[in-house]
Amino acid sequence: LFFLCSLGVAFIAVQWSGPSFHAESLKGARVLVTGASTGIGEQLAYHYARLGAQLVITARRGNVLEQVVNKCLELGAQKALFIPADMANPEDSDRVVQYAIDQLGGLDYLILNHIGPSPYRMWDGDVEHTRWLLQVNFLSFVQMAKNALPTLEKSNGSIVVVSSLLGKVTSPFALPYAATKFALNGFFGGLQHELAMQGSNVSVTICTLGLIDTETAMEKIKGYINISAYPAHEAAWHIIAGGASRLTETYYPWYTYYVCLFRDWFPYYRDLATRNSYTYNPQTVG
Ligand code: NDP
Repeated sequence: LFFLCSLGVAFIAVQWSGPSFHAESLKGARVLVTGASTGIGEQLAYHYARLGAQLVITARRGNVLEQVVNKCLELGAQKALFIPADMANPEDSDRVVQYAIDQLGGLDYLILNHIGPSPYRMWDGDVEHTRWLLQVNFLSFVQMAKNALPTLEKSNGSIVVVSSLLGKVTSPFALPYAATKFALNGFFGGLQHELAMQGSNVSVTICTLGLIDTETAMEKIKGYINISAYPAHEAAWHIIAGGASRLTETYYPWYTYYVCLFRDWFPYYRDLATRNSYTYNPQTVG
């Protein structure tokens, strides 16, 4: 019993401390980060910059990306460039990957992080928005991965997919968003198998995140749920460590791992707890 308890404690400690890696290994690494104008993507760019990486960042707003690039150069990035792109346009996914490969002379890390704006409320039957969001949050990830795979194969590179607990466990108010995250887990989880079966050099890391204190997330959940949000810079560091360690999956913060582990044990109580954790007043919200 003592042995089992010790094993359990050691396991929990490993989950809490997160993956470890050699910071030196990222010096000069050629990295493409999507959705890097704000939030977790912006923090990813700053961490990579401090580690001395060569960066290409993308999002829609060129003026904001320019400021992020300037800060990256101040922080120590060997190279920092930006390319404005809208992932609702399939051509933009091709253009961004090609630009990064051309400018950096190849690619070591493809960090797929962007998400399109989506309302946080009861689903109103808007199928068109769901279709659009699947393009932005899912199909563009698939397309960029396809375009980057040949160069990543040459460099022993990595694809890092930023996903969510909402891609593992169902919940109300974010149905189109959650659908895109479930799709990512299904696609990139399957890709992990296929790459392993083919003896590929490319690793795929899927990051499951809980609530993170980015401006957009905080604004969305206001009035719906009251749980602690974890810092974006820590989430970003965890994502970088997971990718550099070539883990297949990584979880941040710690509780997301246990939610996934115990997800199917008591479905009735899980669903009850999920619904009760939200505030829903049909008079005031959609
Ligand atoms: P933000 O909303 O802060 O950032 C989204 C980024 O995507 C911005 O850089 C935005 O820039 C860009 N973007 C938006 N629309 C498009 C588009 N059409 N084409 C290209 N880029 C676009 O998101 P977070 O930092 O909160 O989230 C980052 C990742 O973390 C996401 O994958 C999210 O699902 C995941 N996550 C976040 C959680 C949280 O609580 N914050 C929880 C779980 C997962 P611009 O407007 O300039 O285009």
